[in-house]
Amino acid sequence: MAYSINNIIVPEELPLIPLKNVVLFPRVAIPLLVQRSKSVGSMEYAVSQDRLAVFVAQKNIYDDVDNKDLFAIGTVGKIFDVHKLPDGSSKIDVEGIARVVIKDYSQVEPFFKVHVEPIITDTPRSVEIEALTRATIDQFRKLIEVRNLQGVVPDMMNVLNQIKDPFQVVYLIAINLNLELTDQQEILETSDAFIALKKMNAYVSRELEIIDAEKRVVRETRKNLGKMQKEVFLREQMKSIEKELGMDGEKGEFDQLREKIKSAGMPTEVEAKAMKELGRLEKMPSFSPEISYVRTYLDLLVELPWSKKSGGSIELEGAEKVLDEDHYGLGKVKERIVEYLAVRKQVGKIRGPILCFVGPPGVGKTSIGKSIAKALGRKFVRISLGGIRDEAEIRGHRRTYVGALPGRIIQGIQTAGTSNPVFMLDEIDKIGMDFRGDPSAALLEALDPEQNSAFSDHYLEVPFDLSDVFFVTTANVLDTIPYALRDRLEIIEFAGYTEQEKLHIAKRFLMPKQLKEHGLKDTQVTIPDPVINNVIRTHTREAGVRDLERQLSTIIRKATRQIVEKKAKTVTPSVATLPEYLGPARYSHREAEKKDEVGVVTGLAWTPVGGEVLSIEASRMPGRGKLTLTGQLGDVMKESVQTALSYARRTASKLGIKSDFYKEDVHIHVPSGAIKKDGPSAGVAMATALISLFTGKLVRKDVGMTGEMTLRGKVLEIGGVKEKILAAHRAGLKTIILPQDNKKDIEEDIPKEIRKDLKFVFVSEIGEVLKVALKNGK
Ligand code: ADP
Repeated sequence: MAYSINNIIVPEELPLIPLKNVVLFPRVAIPLLVQRSKSVGSMEYAVSQDRLAVFVAQKNIYDDVDNKDLFAIGTVGKIFDVHKLPDGSSKIDVEGIARVVIKDYSQVEPFFKVHVEPIITDTPRSVEIEALTRATIDQFRKLIEVRNLQGVVPDMMNVLNQIKDPFQVVYLIAINLNLELTDQQEILETSDAFIALKKMNAYVSRELEIIDAEKRVVRETRKNLGKMQKEVFLREQMKSIEKELGMDGEKGEFDQLREKIKSAGMPTEVEAKAMKELGRLEKMPSFSPEISYVRTYLDLLVELPWSKKSGGSIELEGAEKVLDEDHYGLGKVKERIVEYLAVRKQVGKIRGPILCFVGPPGVGKTSIGKSIAKALGRKFVRISLGGIRDEAEIRGHRRTYVGALPGRIIQGIQTAGTSNPVFMLDEIDKIGMDFRGDPSAALLEALDPEQNSAFSDHYLEVPFDLSDVFFVTTANVLDTIPYALRDRLEIIEFAGYTEQEKLHIAKRFLMPKQLKEHGLKDTQVTIPDPVINNVIRTHTREAGVRDLERQLSTIIRKATRQIVEKKAKTVTPSVATLPEYLGPARYSHREAEKKDEVGVVTGLAWTPVGGEVLSIEASRMPGRGKLTLTGQLGDVMKESVQTALSYARRTASKLGIKSDFYKEDVHIHVPSGAIKKDGPSAGVAMATALISLFTGKLVRKDVGMTGEMTLRGKVLEIGGVKEKILAAHRAGLKTIILPQDNKKDIEEDIPKEIRKDLKFVFVSEIGEVLKVALKNGK
């Protein structure tokens, strides 16, 4: 059966011509080149009939096409002109008539023949379609304008404006855009005029955007090129002007640099290196990107204090005075520092160990370091090593890296501006090590007096003499300092402060400093002693005074506001009004146990932020001799519980414990459960708790204890005595049991005012502990 479309009779069966990269749209005429034999066959057949053929786009671009390679929807077209070309191919002009669906292929060889069915579209006229049509035409007009195509498609706009059928508008525009084949085919397959228009609109807009972007890129490139050429030109001009002026005695840029190099006091080989780099720089073409790298490098060389020093000889008395002026207490620390300085004065150069201040935060390590610098009249620099894992952080990156920098040591020296500063390396206990090398090895080289007169930095490339630098290191704990490093250090321990000491520091140092910083006179804010004590006890929990300083600063800040707002002339907070300044109390120091109990012992612990009092609780229940431990105990502490338990078992009969006690389960808990605890020094307390549990004897609540215990019940020395005693004192304990070997620490470290409140019992074996701590009766 044949169809009639637009008054043309279309037979049911038609020859098919495959199209590469193009789609034939209805009512649009295009020229086509027919080359492939199959296509030529179809064309000749069509021309011999009624000149009609189906034109269908192929999904690929192969010459040899199968019917599977063709889209299912194509266009019936009328061939109205054929030009035979000499090579056997033909140029034809075709006009699309209507869209058709291919039903089936009735012939494949020698050319395709297909059965088709027309796709009928009736175009409803609506305001939206009308509007969208106009908008699309308008967009397209813009496109033609920006593309400067007016001449090429002269009457295009006129034609478009006269067309009534929106599809025709869409198709006409489509053939004038560089659309992808799939986009063209999509347009062809769309039967809804509104959707087709919307798609077209989007394509035109996209095209406009692309053109816009293209233009921008071209403009930018042109601008940049222009700028660069201009720069090159100006530089060349400057060079020649400088040359001219040089003849008159004026210095050019490079000459200035040369002078600077000469006057920087560099060692000869460094100067030679600098001159060589300068020579390279001079020869570089002025647009070379390397110029800025070489300049930065030369600037560093010139700036480094090769032979610039500050401060004279060491005056011991003066040094002692400065240390005393700036710091309260710390007697032992100051003494050690003065001794150290004495040795250095005697020896001349620093040979020997490096000072290492070890202690909790806020105990004055940094500020003692600053005072040393002040006493010696030297510059002070400080770098933190916390978290450094990469050797390059210490020793720099090679210059071949983009963005390479010198390492922190050289940076520190550059900041100091002298070659003999007091150089503080903070947190050496926190340097790490991984695949990027071992920073501590680089650090060792910097610190080692045998090697550091020629410290090598990868960036610097030339050796730098660090032998006049006064290195001081700080750490919170000793255990994690790499062994090789620790070996070179002279350890000076800073213990925490007692409440008494904190009060003095607050009154004599922190308050005046804060008042000055807030621009107040001493008389304007007064904080009475009981208030400071209250701040210390209920708003801070620390071994040092850093938090205390912060809290005092908060009080003074609020007081300043009252004074500035003229609400008060002077401010004197009281214990009652303290919460108005600092809010409610943040801490209640752990108190001693309220009553004597079985299986509950007060232990003393050391933490990096100071001492703590902790309860050790043991309880038992029927079972099979299982031991449960809770409260985040570390391995060492767990082992000490095992030791204590074994000891209790072994001596069971001697201690009057029922021999079947180990058939029961035992649970040991150490609050506060969320805080990690470790170390062997709770051994004695564990054993006491267990023995109390099994004998049913009460533990005296006012006794605190610390000490490591061996399997045979011997009590061994422990560390952190001062912190532990301070915590015990705060908590209101009366009797402290300590290992015999720690007796020396008490005499040396513990202030008298604390000693007089406490009774110390020194023990060398657990039996002595039990005698003091346990009491009969339930
Ligand atoms: P660290 O380096 O040990 O963490 P800082 O040196 O930063 O501690 O000390 C914190 C603050 O406490 C500083 O303002 C310091 O001046 C002050 N400070 C610490 N100890 C004393 C002291 N003994 N006398 C006077 N001020 C002190």
